[in-house]
Amino acid sequence: MTETLDAVILGGGAAGLTLASRLADSPWRGSLLLVDDGAHALADRGWAWWSTGGGPLDAAATTTLAHAYVAVPGWERRLDLAPYAYRAITGEALDSLTGAGLAARGWVRETATARSLTRDDAGVTVALEDGSGAGRVVRARHVFDSVGPGAARSHLVDGPHLDFLGVGVECDADTFDTDAVTFMDLRTDQEDGLAFMYVLPTSARAAVVERVRFVVPGAEVSPVEKEREADESLERPTQPHAHQLTAYLRDVLHVGDHRIVHREHGLIPLLVQPPSHPAGGVVPIGARAGMVKASTGYGIARMERHAVAIAAAMARGADPAHVAPHRRGARALDAALLRVIRDDPRAAAEILAGLLTRHPPARVLAFLDEQASVGDQARIIASLPEFARSRARSWFAPVARW
Ligand SMILES: Cc1cc2nc3c(=O)[nH]c(=O)nc-3n(C[C@H](O)[C@H](O)[C@H](O)COP(=O)(O)OP(=O)(O)OC[C@H]3O[C@@H](n4cnc5c(N)ncnc54)[C@H](O)[C@@H]3O)c2cc1C
Repeated sequence: MTETLDAVILGGGAAGLTLASRLADSPWRGSLLLVDDGAHALADRGWAWWSTGGGPLDAAATTTLAHAYVAVPGWERRLDLAPYAYRAITGEALDSLTGAGLAARGWVRETATARSLTRDDAGVTVALEDGSGAGRVVRARHVFDSVGPGAARSHLVDGPHLDFLGVGVECDADTFDTDAVTFMDLRTDQEDGLAFMYVLPTSARAAVVERVRFVVPGAEVSPVEKEREADESLERPTQPHAHQLTAYLRDVLHVGDHRIVHREHGLIPLLVQPPSHPAGGVVPIGARAGMVKASTGYGIARMERHAVAIAAAMARGADPAHVAPHRRGARALDAALLRVIRDDPRAAAEILAGLLTRHPPARVLAFLDEQASVGDQARIIASLPEFARSRARSWFAPVARW
C-alpha cells in the first residue's frame, strides 16, 4: 500500500537538513519523510556563512570568527566584522541537529534515491529506490525538492561556476589567526580569470586554504592562460591553482614545516536564474530554488531564511510555494557582475577591490548577503568605478540567461 505523508523532503544536504530542522522547531504538526541517497557523506561536508547571530543555524555553528582579513595588491586589513561574525558548521553538526529534531517528532529519514515525481490535483507521488534496487512509492501533499529527480545536470558545469582547489594544512608551529577568516585575498595570479584566496582556520596550526576562480563561459582567455592550456604536461584544471596555493602558503601565510592532509577540487554552479520553480505541490529548495548567490557562491544563509519562511507558512496552513526570499534585484546585480567577469576580469577585480577597501565590513557583508538597506546599496553602487556605474544602468534590465 502507498504510504501517504503531509510532506517529503528530497535531499538531505544543506537545504533539506535546514528545512527539516526548522519544521521540527515549528508548531507544524504534520508527518514528514526526509530522503537522501547517501551519495555525499556529511562527514566530508561543511558550510560557512556570515550573520549577526540569533538564528537556529547560528546557534549550531561549529566555528565563529569575529574578524576577517581582506587584501588586494598593495592593501591588506584585519577587519572587525561586528555586528556580523563569520560562521561555519560541519556536515556532522548539521546532521546531528537535524537528527535530534526528526527524532523528537518521530519523523523518518530514509536512504533512497528519488527517481521521479508525478503531480496530480491531490498531491505528488514520489518513486523511490533503495540501495538494493527495490522500489516503492510515497504520496505527499508537499514535496520540498533539492534534488530534481531525473533533471539534466550538464548545464550546471557548462554555465558560470566557481572552480576551487582547497587543501587542509597542518603546521608544526602556530601559524593561523584563530579569530579571523581570510575572506577574500586578491593577491593571486589573475591570468586564469578573476581569482582569490580564502583561509578558514580550524586551530592555530590547521586551516583550509583555497584558491577560488570564477569561470564564466565566453570569457576571453589571456595569452598566458592560452600558453598554459597548450602545455599538456600540466594537469588541468587544478594545476594553476596548485602553483598559486603553494606560493600563497609560502609567501603570504609563511607556513613552515607542514603537511597537506586533505585536498578537494570542486565546482559551485553560479545560476542567475533558479533551475526550477514551484509547481503543483513541488516546492524547490536549496540550489534548485536559486538560493546560491551567483556572485559569491554562498547559499546556506538564504536556504535557512527560506526554511524559516516555509515552516511559518506550513504552521499557519498557508501555501509554502511562494515564500522564497525576493531576489530579482539581487539577481540582476549578480548577472551584471558575471558579465563584467566574463568581459573584463581585471575590471571585475577592481570592482571587488573597491567594495572591500571603501566600505565598512558590515555594509559589504549585508550587501553580499542581500540584506543591505536601500541607502547602503546606493552608497555601494555610487562608489563603483565609472565603467561599472555605466553598466549599472542595465542592471535592472531582464536578467541574463547563461
Ligand atoms: C564544494 C562546495 C562548497 C560549498 N560551500 C559553501 C559554503 O561554505 N557556504 C555556503 O553558503 N554555500 C556553499 N556552497 C554552495 C551551496 O550552499 C551548497 O552547494 C549547498 O550544499 C546546496 O544545498 P542543496 O541542499 O541545494 O544541495 P546539496 O547540499 O548538494 O544536497 C542535495 C542532497 O541530495 C542528495 N541527492 C541527490 N540526488 C538525489 C536523489 N535523486 N535522491 C535522493 N537524494 C539525492 C545528494 O546526495 C545531497 O545529499 C558550496 C557548494 C559546493 C559545491
